[in-house]
Amino acid sequence: INISITPTGEKESRSIGHVIVLRNITPYKELDFAKTNFIANVSHELKTPISAIKITLDLLKNERIGQTNEEQRHLLDGIREDADRLLKITGELLNITQVESGRIQLNIENASPREIIGYAIASNETMAENRDIKLQVLENGVHSSVQADAEKTAWVLTNLISNAIRYSYDHSVITLEIRENQEYIQISVRDNGQGISQEYQDKIFDRYFRVPGSTREGTGLGLAISREFMEAQQGTLTVESELGAGSTFTIGLKKSV
Ligand code: ADP
Repeated sequence: INISITPTGEKESRSIGHVIVLRNITPYKELDFAKTNFIANVSHELKTPISAIKITLDLLKNERIGQTNEEQRHLLDGIREDADRLLKITGELLNITQVESGRIQLNIENASPREIIGYAIASNETMAENRDIKLQVLENGVHSSVQADAEKTAWVLTNLISNAIRYSYDHSVITLEIRENQEYIQISVRDNGQGISQEYQDKIFDRYFRVPGSTREGTGLGLAISREFMEAQQGTLTVESELGAGSTFTIGLKKSV
């Protein structure tokens, strides 16, 4: 039930009473629920065939089926990158349904930051190679584990690395760094790309927001979901950036005791 209360009379100060309207919004809610479910189901259904396409492409590229020439390999890399993009979008759609319905399902466990980073790098390797971008990791001797949902954190990090690649330049270097203090572990992703001007640094975490004139196609959902995922597990996601110089996105998570 949706309830609205409005004062009556010419001016609010001379109100002679209130009008209370009760509206049964059950049909709208049901429709909304059906829509959310539909989006979640479709994006889930799309993931399986796209993953199968990726596996087939890898078989072709690694010459398990037969020899390929340079031009063919180049074309395969292009298709592989498109498949990665499709997977990214379906993942975003699937996750935004969780966020919008307020049902983020967490699976908190002791997780290894190194493993999470390894997974996130593997998911972005083809795109990095295609742009001749080097992904370097500074582990700073950190061996502690974190209390986190490993899968969701890996998704966040995958997204941050993918952004770093998409919004920086060919032949550059992206640095992942792990740091720790007594309570927290931080993992940062630093690029020397186009950067984000001060006025947009808060807004980029809003759903569907994209910096005007963004050079790459996208949904504007990745960072919004990422921040919700981090905050749901008592973690953080912050940005430091300078237009024209590059950006550093940092996630923070509680250490395991
Ligand atoms: P999308 O990339 O799909 O638009 P995101 O939520 O991931 O959505 O990012 C929101 C916006 O923030 C992007 O449109 C882009 O303008 C900006 N952005 C994100 N990451 C970076 C980055 N590493 N460097 C520069 N701009 C970025």
